Amino acid sequence: MLKLMRFYAPRGLRIVRGENQYLWDDRGRRYLDCHTGHGVAFLGHRNPRVIEEVKKQLERITTLSPTFDTDVKEEATKLLERILPSHLTYFYLLNSGSEAVELALKIARRTTGRRRFISFINAFHGRTMGALSVTWSPRYRDGYEPFPWEVEFLPYDDAEAVERSIDEEVAGVIVEPVQGEGGLAVASRDFLKAIKGRCDEAGAVMIVDEVQSGFGRTGILWAHQRAGVKPDILVAGKSLGGGFPVSLVAVREDLGERMGAGSHGSTHGGNPLALAAVKGGVRALLEEGVVDRARVSGEELGRALERIAGENPELARGTRGMGLMRGIELRTNPAPVIRRLQEEGVLALKAGLTVVRLLPPYMIGSEDIGLIEEKLSGILQVLKESLLRRGGTPLRRG
Ligand SMILES: *Cc1c(COP(=O)(O)O)cnc(C)c1O
Repeated sequence: MLKLMRFYAPRGLRIVRGENQYLWDDRGRRYLDCHTGHGVAFLGHRNPRVIEEVKKQLERITTLSPTFDTDVKEEATKLLERILPSHLTYFYLLNSGSEAVELALKIARRTTGRRRFISFINAFHGRTMGALSVTWSPRYRDGYEPFPWEVEFLPYDDAEAVERSIDEEVAGVIVEPVQGEGGLAVASRDFLKAIKGRCDEAGAVMIVDEVQSGFGRTGILWAHQRAGVKPDILVAGKSLGGGFPVSLVAVREDLGERMGAGSHGSTHGGNPLALAAVKGGVRALLEEGVVDRARVSGEELGRALERIAGENPELARGTRGMGLMRGIELRTNPAPVIRRLQEEGVLALKAGLTVVRLLPPYMIGSEDIGLIEEKLSGILQVLKESLLRRGGTPLRRG
């Protein structure tokens, strides 16, 4: 019998349809989707602009080598130019976040001639060998060493460690402006500035991995822009294609100039359907006021989570994240809470070991946030009572 490999624990739900922020299962039950395939469906399920562009492209041509020119390539490029930092003048499209990270690392390796990278504790950058080398968790790394180069993991958000450790042997530093899988830690401005400052002094390349935090999710177009830094390479993915598998690497002019023919490539990378999806995705981002809505709803969601954390100090350590990349840090394993949320019609996911993470589509409204608050606080209340019944307070405070 043919079986799917067991990389992900099944959720026990059969989903039949998705629209905007909602999914429906085969029993007709509706779910508020704050999982969104690890943040992919940020523009909502079946965003009309994305569907329109992909449908149009399906009628024309769906596959073509990057060696040929097309209207859709030109149009997608023009739209991307409106949202990418203006100092990043070369880009390339790939199919997954990992692949884009892979190219970013290759560019740093090749253009500096160095072979040492700096990453951070709790970082997640993907599962291919290069991306995995800068991913922190032993859960993902075990059994795959050695990696192609030396990687040092520094404490996240520690500007002093950055000042000390980035030297003339470092090819690149890769950082998530807001850590996704690792637990929703938010980088301070000083930390991001310190990385850029030291990279410039040492001739190293600063790579911002915005695969999860980018494209408006944190209430700003690119999360690193809060700090006013200009990274040498930006990596995007997940929500960029509005649900279609596509990722992007954007680089500084001189780095782009030095990556010539043969230095990288991808069979499906930037195919016409992917370009159409990007075109639809960027149009949606610009025409639907996505960034502002994510910021406003994000603040409302943040306040709701603060109330829940405040009311449950025995169970919650506090809130994490920014924009619509938020969570609540528990003093206990979040898995049972996430399971109960699913039964109550809200899909969430874990981050790190203790965080209930919410990655909703940008169009969630007050009613949805009210639902999250009602369900989550109800579940924590029941959990608290059952812990008390089992005697005392097994969960330490402080
Ligand atoms: C998901 C993720 C990746 C990997 O993307 P894939 O599409 O799964 O390869 C890389 N970096 C970050 C920050 C991510 O969240």
